[in-house]
Amino acid sequence: MAETVTMTMEQFQALIAQMNQSAVEGFKEAAKIIVRGDPEEAEKKEALKIRKKESREQLLMRIAEADAAAMARVKSCTHTRPEDGKYTTGGQPNNDGKVRILCQRCLAVWTITPSPENLRALLAGDLSLQGIKPPENIEPQVVVA
Ligand SMILES: [Zn+2]
Repeated sequence: MAETVTMTMEQFQALIAQMNQSAVEGFKEAAKIIVRGDPEEAEKKEALKIRKKESREQLLMRIAEADAAAMARVKSCTHTRPEDGKYTTGGQPNNDGKVRILCQRCLAVWTITPSPENLRALLAGDLSLQGIKPPENIEPQVVVA
């Protein structure tokens, strides 16, 4: 059986007023946090921002180091095998009509435009880029491994 409470109209109104006051105070506190932001949350956001910036700078530094290392690797490479002096290059024609020659030791890539005859011969498999001498007048692109 349900219990019943008996109160006067004044007591009931006082209870409602107190409940309303509590709700208003709660909303006010929540609104302050929403408007100003939770100080702990703001601190965490700032720390995260600093960490992201640091990791971005570290990443850029690592990329620059990798680029420099790749460039040093290409500059010091003879693009030949030490045992027999044969070029360690290979390549293939691309859809754009250009040929990319790659050194398998240092990952340097030279892009050349072959003559139409050479391109036809390459596409037909009558001409190979295996062990071809890299072009001396073209700067290679450096592939970061
Ligand atoms: Zn090389």
